[in-house]
Amino acid sequence: MMFEQLARASRSRSTQINVSFEFFPPKTAEMDVALWEAITRLAPLDPSFVSVTYGAGGSTRERTHATVERIVRETSLKPAAHLTCVAATRAEVDDVIRSYQAAGVRHIVALRGDPMGGLGTSFAAHQGGYANSTELVEGIRRIGDFEVTVSAYPEKHPESADFEQDLDVLKAKVDAGATRAITQFFFDNAHYLRYVDKVRARGIHIPIIPGIVPVQNFKQTASFAKKTGASVPQWLADRFEGLEEDAATRRLIAAVVAAEQVIDLVDHGVTDFHFYTMNKADLVYAICHLLGLRPSLSERAA
Ligand code: FAD
Repeated sequence: MMFEQLARASRSRSTQINVSFEFFPPKTAEMDVALWEAITRLAPLDPSFVSVTYGAGGSTRERTHATVERIVRETSLKPAAHLTCVAATRAEVDDVIRSYQAAGVRHIVALRGDPMGGLGTSFAAHQGGYANSTELVEGIRRIGDFEVTVSAYPEKHPESADFEQDLDVLKAKVDAGATRAITQFFFDNAHYLRYVDKVRARGIHIPIIPGIVPVQNFKQTASFAKKTGASVPQWLADRFEGLEEDAATRRLIAAVVAAEQVIDLVDHGVTDFHFYTMNKADLVYAICHLLGLRPSLSERAA
């Protein structure tokens, strides 16, 4: 039997891929070293931007700020600072926004944040605070000419009653000035592809960048996924089965799983990816290489 070689976007040199990387602010000196090793390794891949998360309950306010400021100072990367509405008045949040403006930051990832009682409890706005992500987007746009990215949920946010409500929220955020969305991670690409169709049908035209989580630790990822409403398919569990004590094989499987996911997305026309790096570079670097990215000498961290 003869098989025709299919033309696949993932095999074409002309497919231009854009990536962005997410980091979390380090808690300790060792974690700081690990973060900067990761940034230094990934910077030459010339990401569109790198983002730094904001800890639950605003717990990393200073650390997020310090990390973002150091990226501005020591690299030619474009940082995006995550910011939430949790546990702060509008005036306090506005101060944070202004301090980013003064530091030369031009991109904020605006989020409501998780409830103070943890995931699964209901969200109550802080007294005098921004009530939700839409209000936060409006607040940021009022203060300065920031690029504002927001979240999107291919399997819907766990608090949204249905997809309609979820899409209403995304539409409200876009109407308030958001120009890009990054998705919660997902493992079945069908969730993302169907979601993008729904978003477009709802008249929302901003880029919906898939958030890709390389599975560094299956147990941890599965437990986090459960809380965030991302489903973990049985086939994924099967791939990591029996590897709890075998870190080397686990790493190879993680690379294969992530590679399969991004290659399939490229074959479906996706050209932009946001990687949740967990402050580790190797796996993400390898996946980017597979996607055709090569280090550029002009884009190096200090
Ligand atoms: P929203 O878009 O605000 O939606 C949450 C829910 O709010 C909706 O489902 C809806 O029920 C309700 N809502 C009702 N009316 C409105 C309205 N008018 N406008 C908006 N919402 C309304 N968390 C952190 O603490 N720090 C981070 O750095 C962080 N980074 C993230 C990055 C990405 C890419 C993603 C996908 C999530 C991130 N999160 C972060 C998690 C996020 O804070 C939680 O998922 C949180 O529960 C929801 O905030 P949101 O802005 O994503 O959701």
